[in-house]
Amino acid sequence: MWARLSCRGEGMNRKRLIAGNWKMNGSVVANEALVRAVIAGMEGVNCRVAVCVPAPYLAQVQQLRAGSSLELGAQDVSAHAQGAYTGEVSAAMLREFGTRYAIVGHSERRQYHAESDAMVADKAKAALAEGITPIVCVGETLAEREGSRTEEVVKRQLAAVIHVNGHCISEIVVAYEPVWAIGTGKTATPEQAQQVHAVLRAQLRAASTRDSRIAILYGGSMNAANAASLLAQPDIDGGLIGGASLKAADFLQIIAAADQAGATP
Ligand code: PEP
Repeated sequence: MWARLSCRGEGMNRKRLIAGNWKMNGSVVANEALVRAVIAGMEGVNCRVAVCVPAPYLAQVQQLRAGSSLELGAQDVSAHAQGAYTGEVSAAMLREFGTRYAIVGHSERRQYHAESDAMVADKAKAALAEGITPIVCVGETLAEREGSRTEEVVKRQLAAVIHVNGHCISEIVVAYEPVWAIGTGKTATPEQAQQVHAVLRAQLRAASTRDSRIAILYGGSMNAANAASLLAQPDIDGGLIGGASLKAADFLQIIAAADQAGATP
């Protein structure tokens, strides 16, 4: 079954990835100022930087980023290739705007749009088939953490993606985003995050047929003050940044921390 799966991703390298998730924020005027400031400030850094923007702004940011190393991402993608799916955006459409990444399974989509593990896995598959790298989000709620279920939950969420995508998982990026840390100002401690990243790393190693290191990002109130200590952990390869990606100065400080952390092991 796996041999028939199509994944034409560009693949990642050992460079760290800092991806901004703008969520449902922005305007034509604000985007231009933000993107120009980020591009100006990231000149010469040796890490990947992306912004995952609302779908209506993909074309605008595609133009703004032209000639720079800033990469473009979407915040979701349809599991379907085309057809009667009102409101959805296909991977092929995203690709037409130079989109490199698509976030799938963000906890806000799991929570407000009832996205199941299976649906997230299908979205990852649709992205991979178009050469878009899915940033697969996994993470536990506070109740699940307090019930000592963190490992069980993140492994279940990732297992669904592995099951559907087989050997193509070597092309994905994973983001560990504890739900209780998203937009709350509460960050997992570097040790808490590392513990979960190590679990995910082991699961990916066991499942991946290729000898590549799959990037695992941390997300959840990452900011200028805590980025360096999180990125110093051996299994944290980068960050998925919500609130702090909306202010160029804050986002650039996180990018600088990733640059200073150097390549992943
Ligand atoms: C996110 O929404 O992916 C996120 C990490 O948000 P924040 O950084 O605001 O917690």
